[in-house]
Amino acid sequence: MTKAFVGRNGVVKKLKAVRLDWKQDENDAWQMKEIPGSEFELNADLVLLAMGFLHVEPGPLVRDYGLQTDQRGNIVTDKNMMTSSPGVFAAGDAALGASLVVRAIYQGRAAAEGADYFLKNS
Ligand SMILES: Cc1cc2nc3c(=O)[nH]c(=O)nc-3n(C[C@H](O)[C@H](O)[C@H](O)COP(=O)(O)OP(=O)(O)OC[C@H]3O[C@@H](n4cnc5c(N)ncnc54)[C@H](O)[C@@H]3O)c2cc1C
Repeated sequence: MTKAFVGRNGVVKKLKAVRLDWKQDENDAWQMKEIPGSEFELNADLVLLAMGFLHVEPGPLVRDYGLQTDQRGNIVTDKNMMTSSPGVFAAGDAALGASLVVRAIYQGRAAAEGADYFLKNS
């Protein structure tokens, strides 16, 4: 994790960083902790910020159905990808947060299976 940029006259020369320890908490959310004594510096001529974001903006659909979201704003689903509203399913970025196409495809298939199971068993 970058802690500071060092430079002169607005030109970056290096960045100061610290190594992190990532662990999942009891809610499976990833938590990071700085590792004491692991501070280091990197020389740099250019720094590009590649910023992620936490979750998809919940639109009227999420609000109108009153879908439960987690503390990061992602739609909560059960193991069949069903949301807190029975018969409503969520997958991909809406359920995972900003992620990858392959994960969205995998979850989309799981949601289709979940919907099939729901329709055949309700
Ligand atoms: C700039 C950028 C670059 C990325 N690069 C990569 C990459 O290189 N590799 C990679 O694997 N992933 C990448 N991703 C992530 C990837 O695009 C997403 O993880 C993936 O698209 C998620 O798929 P999804 O189907 O869950 O959501 P989306 O692809 O966002 O699809 C959701 C769809 O629902 C529609 N929609 C929303 N609300 C409604 C509504 N009320 N009614 C009807 N339709 C609605 C939206 O218009 C949209 O078409 C990138 C993402 C961004 C933003």
